[in-house]
Amino acid sequence: MIISGSIEETRNQVKEWKRQGCRVGLVPTMGYLHEGHKSLMEAAKRENDKVAVSVFVNPIQFGPNEDFASYPRDFGQDAALCESVGVDLVFHPEAEEMYDEDFCTYVDMDGLTKELCGKSRPTHFRGVQTVVSKLFHIIPADRAYFGQKDAQQLAVIKKMVRDMSMDIEIVGCPIVREPDGLAKSSRNTYLNAEERQAALVLSRSLAEGRKLAKAGERNASRVKDAITGVIESEKFARIDYVEIVDFADITPLADLDHAKNGEILCAVAVYIGKTRLIDNFIMKL
Ligand code: AMP
Repeated sequence: MIISGSIEETRNQVKEWKRQGCRVGLVPTMGYLHEGHKSLMEAAKRENDKVAVSVFVNPIQFGPNEDFASYPRDFGQDAALCESVGVDLVFHPEAEEMYDEDFCTYVDMDGLTKELCGKSRPTHFRGVQTVVSKLFHIIPADRAYFGQKDAQQLAVIKKMVRDMSMDIEIVGCPIVREPDGLAKSSRNTYLNAEERQAALVLSRSLAEGRKLAKAGERNASRVKDAITGVIESEKFARIDYVEIVDFADITPLADLDHAKNGEILCAVAVYIGKTRLIDNFIMKL
């Protein structure tokens, strides 16, 4: 397995694979890898000849009061996990390699990024789109793999690729959960034992919402109220948002039947103590 912190070396290696006729899969991550990331790598491994994983805690997608400095990092463990899955290349650059001192070009979009996480993290998606665009240029892959855990991010990247006519296929992968339902996340490591238990309220509340929608409830407010009620019963939890949007364009829905492609995204962001966690379900109606 090749480990490189160099843009030039990584690009030359991937170009060489392309010259040999290999299909290349890319899995962008911020490291501290877990089973969720592993499922993306395994999908990439199944569907491509070569797999590249990027491990980079991207400073420009964090707000000034967010957890960039404390974000968990363990590159030794990440490299071992990548090796165990059969990853061919890990791109692990320093921030200085990715962003020159005079860096000033960003990728942003008008729609999709204003709702949900965009409300409390106004510069987050600009940072994500910028780094993902850079990664697509450094690693000219055939396919890139993203988790539905970050459903808005998946929708934003798909739209960016369409709008910018980028020559890459975006593959969405299902959420991987702990046995008790908590969505796997690098940030779960921030939780103490009490908070870890309290964090189950995210998946529990969404299960309630899903049950209502499955039973035929189409009024988004009623579904959101039911979810909110469950979250508010947990004393360590503070709601950032509970929202139901059209998965196609991330616009709020009043009636679940009005999603353009029939796909709704029901998403929550909840502070458990100081830790902000997200979870969601996507439903085809
Ligand atoms: P991150 O390292 O948190 O930036 O995540 C890198 C990629 O892994 C993103 O596409 C995430 O959506 C995906 N991911 C993170 N957690 C999970 C999970 N529990 N299940 C599936 N994909 C995940």
